[in-house]
Amino acid sequence: MEVAYDLWPQVSREIDAEDAYERTGHLLLYENETGGLQGGFESARARANVQNEFGVETEVLDGDEVREMEPGVSEDVIGALHCPNDGIADHATITRSLARAAEAHGATVRENAPVRGLERDGSRVTAVRTADERFAVDQTVFLLSNTHVPQLVEDELDISLPVWNMYPQVSATEPMDEVPVNHLIGHDSRRLALKEISESRVMISGGWRGEWDEDAQQGIALEERVDGNAADARAVFPDLTGIEVERSDASRRESVTVDHVPIIDTLPGADNMIVGTGWSGHGFAISLAINRLLSRWAIDGTRPSRLSPFSLERLRRPE
Ligand SMILES: Cc1cc2nc3c(=O)[nH]c(=O)nc-3n(C[C@H](O)[C@H](O)[C@H](O)COP(=O)(O)OP(=O)(O)OC[C@H]3O[C@@H](n4cnc5c(N)ncnc54)[C@H](O)[C@@H]3O)c2cc1C
Repeated sequence: MEVAYDLWPQVSREIDAEDAYERTGHLLLYENETGGLQGGFESARARANVQNEFGVETEVLDGDEVREMEPGVSEDVIGALHCPNDGIADHATITRSLARAAEAHGATVRENAPVRGLERDGSRVTAVRTADERFAVDQTVFLLSNTHVPQLVEDELDISLPVWNMYPQVSATEPMDEVPVNHLIGHDSRRLALKEISESRVMISGGWRGEWDEDAQQGIALEERVDGNAADARAVFPDLTGIEVERSDASRRESVTVDHVPIIDTLPGADNMIVGTGWSGHGFAISLAINRLLSRWAIDGTRPSRLSPFSLERLRRPE
C-alpha cells in the first residue's frame, strides 16, 4: 500500500482516468470496546502502530472526532482508525484505461480467449495455449487470471495451492438527494463496507457472500443476505433507513488464501512463470504497486524484496 498510495493519483492521471480515482480516506469504525481475538477498540492503538510502521498513515479517533468527519454516523460508534491516504476507484474505468494505455505502449490485448493450457520444456514454460492460438514464450509468463490460477496450476503442475473461491456480494442503493457517507467506510465487527458511487448512490458490501448457482453458472446474491447487509448499513448510518437497495450482484469471483495474504511466486516445474492469486478481497488497492514490482521481477530476473512476504514458502513446512 505504501507504494500504491503514490501510484494511484499519478497513474490515473497518466492513463486519462483522473476522475475514476478519489482519495477519500478510510474510516474503520468501532462499536465495541473489546471483541474476542479481533480486539475491538482496545486493539486500535496496536493496529495503528503496525500500519504506521509499514507506511500506511493511520490515526486513532474517538467517537466525537469520528462524528465531526462523518456527522451521519450512529451514536454507538465509539472510535475509528483513520487512513487519510486511502481512496476509491471505479474498477471498470481504471481497468479499461490501463488496457488502452498498455496497447499504446505496444501490448496486444485479447478478450474472450481463455487460456486452456501450457507447453513446457523441462521446468520452463515455452508456450501458452488458448482454444485457437498458441503464444510462444521467450522470457516470462505472468499467470494472473485470479480464480482460474489454482485450477491451471493443479492441472499443469500438480500443485495444490491453499486458495479457494468466493462470490463477494455488493449492493447499490437508489439515488439520494444527500449521500450521508463521506469516506470509504469499514467496520471492526460488522461485515460492512460503504462508499459513495456514481449517481449519488451508496455501495454496500464488506463481507457478505453470494452463492454459486449451477443454472446461471455464476455467483448470485441472496435476498436475505442483501437484507442483512443493508440492516448493518442502516444501524451504522441511520439516515440510510428507508433508502431502498436497488441492485445487488455476486457474479464476480475472488480467490482467497488461508491467511488472507496473496500468493505471488514462481512454482516448481515452471521457473519462468510468475503466479499471482489469492487476493482475498483486497487485490485492487495494491494492484498498481504489484504490477510495477512484477515487471521489475521479470526484467531483472530477481524477486523484488517487497514481494518476498507473498511467497508460498510462508505456508510450507520449513526444510
Ligand atoms: C464485489 C467485489 C468487491 C471488491 N472490493 C475490493 C476493494 O474494495 N478493494 C480491493 O482492493 N479489492 C476489492 N476486490 C478484490 C479485487 O477486485 C480483486 O482482488 C482484483 O480484481 C484481482 O485482480 P486480478 O486482475 O488478479 O483478477 P480479476 O480482476 O478477477 O481478473 C482476472 C481476469 O482473468 C480472466 N480469466 C479468468 N480465467 C481465464 C483464463 N482461463 N484465461 C484467460 N483469462 C482468464 C478473467 O476473465 C478476468 O478478466 C473486490 C472484489 C469483488 C468481487
